[in-house]
Amino acid sequence: MASLSLRNITKTYAGGFTAVKDFNLEIEDKEFIIFVGPSGCGKSTTLRMIAGLEEISEGELYIDDQLMNDVVPKDRDIAMVFQNYALYPHMTVFENMAFGLKLRKVPKDEIKRKVTEAAQILGIEHLLDRKPKALSGGQRQRVALGRAIVRNPKVFLMDEPLSNLDAKLRVQMRTEIGKLHKKLETTFIYVTHDQTEAMTMGSRIVVMKDGIIQQVDTPSNLYLYP
Ligand code: ADP
Ligand code: ADP
Repeated sequence: MASLSLRNITKTYAGGFTAVKDFNLEIEDKEFIIFVGPSGCGKSTTLRMIAGLEEISEGELYIDDQLMNDVVPKDRDIAMVFQNYALYPHMTVFENMAFGLKLRKVPKDEIKRKVTEAAQILGIEHLLDRKPKALSGGQRQRVALGRAIVRNPKVFLMDEPLSNLDAKLRVQMRTEIGKLHKKLETTFIYVTHDQTEAMTMGSRIVVMKDGIIQQVDTPSNLYLYP
């Protein structure tokens, strides 16, 4: 269960620049929602505030009716996947995927079971002993997804996860992420500047511009800028 409520959220950075203004949104449990808009419109900032990686200047964030503003990232039950994968280069795929669980003192046999299971879902079982530098871009992004899956988070945040992949792989991974959403039955929040991705992946789209929500609607009802 994970519904989110973002109430009048504003982010003003230290220099005084307001990147997100009065953001209001209710996200339903198990929804696949997209934040779309041009570079610099405040998508990542919003996602990072949900993850707890960025302080909320004004407003409230609730997850399942619990106020989250002052909850540290580790205790939010949220996983985030980044565009640049953010894998640890000195660790194997197994160790990368196991790392978050190890930090949380999950027993070793359970770690092994969870990592193996996630690796099977993503088709990367044969890569567990490799280091990230010996992987392709698509494989690296699967490892990043795997690292998030093993934690069984309530909310899955993705920040332009496919932007570094070539066009063909991007199309393939869109479908895979859609399947993953169905399988995991968790809330997905997905950030992209790519309109095709936005229109094909989510059940609802939030269009942002200059830190402000312009529209919130289903893909079929949405009018996107040309
Ligand atoms: P998007 O994800 O839509 O590309 P961001 O949320 O990354 O947009 O950035 C929104 C705006 O906030 C941009 O103008 C960006 O330059 C600015 N910004 C992002 N991070 C910081 C920061 N740490 N300090 C000051 N300004 C920032
Ligand atoms: P340690 O803390 O002892 O160094 P690791 O984090 O390296 O342990 O590994 C944790 C557990 O996961 C160990 O039982 C190890 O055998 C197992 N393991 C490590 N790599 C793999 C792999 N590629 N496939 C399956 N199990 C693995």
